[in-house]
Amino acid sequence: MTKTRPNILLIYTGGTIGMVKDFETGALKAFDFENLLVRIPEIKQLDCNIETFSFAEPIDSSNMNPVYWVEIAEIIERNYDTFDGFVVLHGSDTMSYTASALSFMLEHLAKPVVFTGSQLPIGDLRTDAKENLITSIHVASLQRYNKPVIKEVTLYFEYKLYRANRTTKINAEHFEAFASLNYPELVTSGVHLKVNHDYLFKPNTKKRLKVHKNLDENIALVKLFPGISSPLLCSIFNTPGLKGVILETYGAGNCTTENWFLNILKEAISNGIHVVNITQCSGGSVLMGQYQSSEKLKKIGVISGKDITTEAAICKMMYLLGQNVSSKVFKTIYETSLRGELT
Ligand code: ASP
Repeated sequence: MTKTRPNILLIYTGGTIGMVKDFETGALKAFDFENLLVRIPEIKQLDCNIETFSFAEPIDSSNMNPVYWVEIAEIIERNYDTFDGFVVLHGSDTMSYTASALSFMLEHLAKPVVFTGSQLPIGDLRTDAKENLITSIHVASLQRYNKPVIKEVTLYFEYKLYRANRTTKINAEHFEAFASLNYPELVTSGVHLKVNHDYLFKPNTKKRLKVHKNLDENIALVKLFPGISSPLLCSIFNTPGLKGVILETYGAGNCTTENWFLNILKEAISNGIHVVNITQCSGGSVLMGQYQSSEKLKKIGVISGKDITTEAAICKMMYLLGQNVSSKVFKTIYETSLRGELT
């Protein structure tokens, strides 16, 4: 079998990675992607063909929202047959949200989508952007028998490739900005790229890519804290149009057992609002029923988010609500791993 050079599409959405210092003013400005190969000539040494596509107006990822998620999904959809892999350059602040959302939106994905970014701009002397970018392209180009090795949405940062919907940004300063505490790395980059084949997602490659663009934003994220008040919680649960709530509880899914609290949840669930229990801890899982303080949640029909991240929990809720999943099966589907997002 003759080996062909993979075609990689590099999609620039914005963020620090694509910025360079203006020589005159010293201010950071968006980088002209047409000149990528001129700026980083090393890229030419990679064994793949690269084309680039940039958002017309690149954004700081703190302005990211589901409309942009659909835009990214559509770029991938339009180019899916022409390219063997996709590298999405994105600001690190909300990268885990976008990448998690894309993992749900791209059903039956059979090619690599690698999100990356950097803590320092590509034009900075000490930048982490070059390694992140070069290895991301390398990972997206990995093939075995002319088929991509990675067939899922991933995130590459500081020598590690993660399953995207397992990641969280944990540091605003360190080059190692992301962590995946409940799932091992898919690839580690040292002298050699070490692929952990056992951990890779294995999609049904007989099915064609299906892109889901309907996301329902009528949801809320509530983080419990000692002293949270009934009026505050009531006002959140009485938000017009609210359909789902992600509840960040303590430890293994525990919460106050005070009646006012449980009654608010009970009423919301009987009104058709889906309530998901996830933990505030960065690692570990919700285990409803382990303590008395979570047993009651189980009894009233709260959904267990198990070991899902907050980012993936939010995106999964928007995705399933957008699919109009019936109330009867919503809990079962939410508690099932769809893209490897929970154990
Ligand atoms: N604020 C930037 C962004 O998320 C930070 C970064 O790029 O890392 O777009």
